[in-house]
Amino acid sequence: MAKLSLKHIYKVYPNGVKAVNDFNMEIEDKEFIVFVGPSGCGKSTTLRMIAGLEDITAGELTIGDTIVNDMEPKDRDIAMVFQNYALYPHMTVYDNIAFGLRLRRIEKDEAHPNGKFTREEINERVLEAANILGITEYLGRKPKEMSGGQRQRVSLGRAIVREPKVMLLDEPLSNLDAKLRTQMRAEISKLHAKLNTTFIYVTHDQVEAMTMGTRIVVMKNGFIQQIDTPKNLYNYPSNKFVAGFIGTPQMNFFEGTLKQEGDLVRIRFDYADAEIAVPFSYFYKARPDYLDGEKKVIIGLRAENISLEPETVKNSPAVIRFKVSHKEELGNETLVYGDINMEGDGFTESSTRLIAKCGEEIDVKAGDVVNAALDLDRMHLFDKETEESILPRIPGYNYLDAEVKGGMLCFLGQKVALPPAITAADGAYRLLLPSDAIVSGGSIRAKLVSAEKIGAQTLYSLDLGGKRLFSVALTEGKEESIGIDMKKIALLANGEEAVRPMPLVSSFGGVMKKIKTVETVEVKGKEKAKKVIKFMLTVEGVDFPAPERISSKLIAALTAKRVFEKQLRYECTPYGFFLTETGIPATVERMADYGAEKFAVCRVGEQEVYVKTEEDLSGVVFLTPDFEQIGIIQADMDIRIV
Ligand code: ADP
Repeated sequence: MAKLSLKHIYKVYPNGVKAVNDFNMEIEDKEFIVFVGPSGCGKSTTLRMIAGLEDITAGELTIGDTIVNDMEPKDRDIAMVFQNYALYPHMTVYDNIAFGLRLRRIEKDEAHPNGKFTREEINERVLEAANILGITEYLGRKPKEMSGGQRQRVSLGRAIVREPKVMLLDEPLSNLDAKLRTQMRAEISKLHAKLNTTFIYVTHDQVEAMTMGTRIVVMKNGFIQQIDTPKNLYNYPSNKFVAGFIGTPQMNFFEGTLKQEGDLVRIRFDYADAEIAVPFSYFYKARPDYLDGEKKVIIGLRAENISLEPETVKNSPAVIRFKVSHKEELGNETLVYGDINMEGDGFTESSTRLIAKCGEEIDVKAGDVVNAALDLDRMHLFDKETEESILPRIPGYNYLDAEVKGGMLCFLGQKVALPPAITAADGAYRLLLPSDAIVSGGSIRAKLVSAEKIGAQTLYSLDLGGKRLFSVALTEGKEESIGIDMKKIALLANGEEAVRPMPLVSSFGGVMKKIKTVETVEVKGKEKAKKVIKFMLTVEGVDFPAPERISSKLIAALTAKRVFEKQLRYECTPYGFFLTETGIPATVERMADYGAEKFAVCRVGEQEVYVKTEEDLSGVVFLTPDFEQIGIIQADMDIRIV
């Protein structure tokens, strides 16, 4: 039983393939985690790194409380089950299950004078595992006398008897036929409940992932796309890839544009003579710049959210016409295929093809032109280029019309003084207000509409002057008087940034160096000179002693031989510096006073660097990065090491 923590894990194979990029995840004890994604997305590589069968190029893997990057697989207290069972053909089932236990070294004591499990202990564990898996009657058989499903049970048995902290399963069911797969799926879920162990399961099959995982990691091209519960992945996919990967039949994706006209939004479907006007309230969370009638979007709707039922169609604000091409009758339900383009064929996947999931009694036939009601509460919207959701569950920004007048920022009937750090000419602006910049305890009165718990965050929905605002930064109970964290806002005039938010990170170049020095040490009361090797971090040409934690991470990630050749990129936040006697020279250009907080804006080389300070600074100051907070990236591969 154990927690796992994967921090900035990367895998670069010797041939240069970057199979896993910046994998970050905390896995709780007893979770059933599934890694899913198309072939080659890096899921097995990640699993094999956890198992210790593959070196970790960079990052930190913790099992329980121990960093295990350099720990041998046999010492990690994990068990792995493979697709091909990997059983010994000449041994009986009993011996196959017992084999690992017989070899295992344990602590010597009176009961275990040889440092091995006793025959009785092994027998007990094998019989218990066989009982759990229902293979007791086959213990005397050889693997070749068993079916695929039974063989996979044996390999599960071999893993169970080790009583591992973590069970790793790599496509364990892909060699089985469909029926057996469904049955074994249920059995593995049951096994998980019984064993109370953390399971990590790799599959390319989304149905398997959805039915088994407590949380699912969807991967593509070595990158995590989304980590979430099956329900949330289905209802709130964060991009088009996840939306299309999860669920059958695949989500309908229509290409089109959105245009706000007062309280309505006109949805135009491209390549079809189709347009609907619907209430703006469906688009509260959407970024307004997508409502300009020009930016291309993808409108996603699952088949079950498109209804042909006459009563639903009659009452729906969103009805679209399509031409039926064919039906798939699945017994209890029917999939009706067609196209919103009357010339379209309904068979090929396209941006006008429509699939609707209907009850079994649906009276339509090929060639019919029928009306379908779209359930816009279940609509998904994606940017056509980036494919990211533009209707996020937690909106990152609020977009508002604003005006600056004599140092005051006016928006939604409010007037707030701009802090000295922000200077903007009088005029009209677009205000970008991040949802974490609306904080509790200011002078603005807003009405709380809802507070929705989403994962670790709470999304507060506020009404201010009849307009919806979203915040993730309110303190519970103080929702109704709000303030703005001015250092995070941006003001746009004619599409250009007139006021930028304060930069959150500054990056510096550098390397790690090794220096030899002589230190005086005391040996038996006498002082002696001793040569020592020290590691230094060079940041912008200035040397700082490397904390042990950082030098060992760099050496582990980059291998000791090459670590000193690698260009590093250091990242510091405005809160990540000490002002010191010596250090990186920085010329203070001005003070940025945001009211509650002050920052010195310094020039370091070509760069503007923000440094949090209590007092006004001027002239040249010296900065020492706070190595507790610093981020370090191997520059050429873009791999985060610290
Ligand atoms: P998945 O399990 O999702 O199918 P893998 O983790 O096996 O994907 O592979 C991820 C990527 O790494 C693929 O591009 C694959 O070709 C590559 N890869 C896997 N193993 C090796 C290896 N031993 N050497 C080089 N490249 C590899």
